[in-house]
Amino acid sequence: MLGEAPYPWFGDVWDRFGQSLAQSRLGHAVLIVGPAGVGKLALAESASRALLCRERGLGRVSAPCGVCDACVQVERGSHPDLHRVEADDKTGVIGVGAVREICAQLLMTSQMAGYRVGLFPNVERCSVSAANSLLKTLEEPPPNVFMVLVSARPGRLPATIRSRCQVWRCPAPAPTQAAQWLREQGVQDADAALDRAGGAPLMALQVSGDPLSASLDAVLAATLTGQVSVAQAAKQLEPYGSEAALSGVLMSIDTVLASGADHLASGLQIACFGGSRSARQLYAWRDAVLREFVRDRTGLNELATLERVLAAGRGEAPAAVT
Ligand SMILES: [Zn+2]
Repeated sequence: MLGEAPYPWFGDVWDRFGQSLAQSRLGHAVLIVGPAGVGKLALAESASRALLCRERGLGRVSAPCGVCDACVQVERGSHPDLHRVEADDKTGVIGVGAVREICAQLLMTSQMAGYRVGLFPNVERCSVSAANSLLKTLEEPPPNVFMVLVSARPGRLPATIRSRCQVWRCPAPAPTQAAQWLREQGVQDADAALDRAGGAPLMALQVSGDPLSASLDAVLAATLTGQVSVAQAAKQLEPYGSEAALSGVLMSIDTVLASGADHLASGLQIACFGGSRSARQLYAWRDAVLREFVRDRTGLNELATLERVLAAGRGEAPAAVT
């Protein structure tokens, strides 16, 4: 069969993918959904590798060999039939131009006489017109094209796109399985790391070696519940640098949003940071953090940046921009 799944908790979905390949009934598009930090992108990349490997073919289903020219090119990011669409660095949006270009390339004949793969990480970031352009390709899929859409927030995608894809659900793994895997990666306090990462093992691995993330949730809770002032909290975060602190805050908000995914539509409060917030408040805070990311960073006052981000978390109007 297809060999090992990229992570042990993907065993079932990986086996089903192998079976569809073996029976030549692989759909033309999949949507991989699940919380941030479970390895959805690695799953998408492994599936792409398995499809493009030269050793596949003739109905044989095997793990990607890792040595053929196709495997080597995928590894280097230079395979001519693997097209990846990323959000714009500055705006965080996948624009219509990028989607049109990739879809046009997917329509062309394969460079290497096999599958052509379109990979869309964070596909929910498509602008409205980009989503429409993507939908056109999903509605009239060219032969031998495999589209892999990846999203932690599939609810933000048009239903018309979701309905055109086979959905691969990737929930956070069982805590025992995740903790065991983390210990195999050398993480000492696997349970605490998993807690901080909302049960997502890859995120837990990332936060376990990181002193900022170990203290960040405590700082945020103290700030949002009013135990410390915004200015005091900003001072505590300043030594880590605004870039790292902003990334950390963003990750904390995303973890809360992922854990409260069921409440997003209902408007119920989500328990977080020593209190609770509505999804709308959390998204507003997230947007405020993103705005700080895209600000002109020349002559930036890091402390003021952190204060604005923390004030936004409290729901306070940001101080006047100077
Ligand atoms: Zn290969």
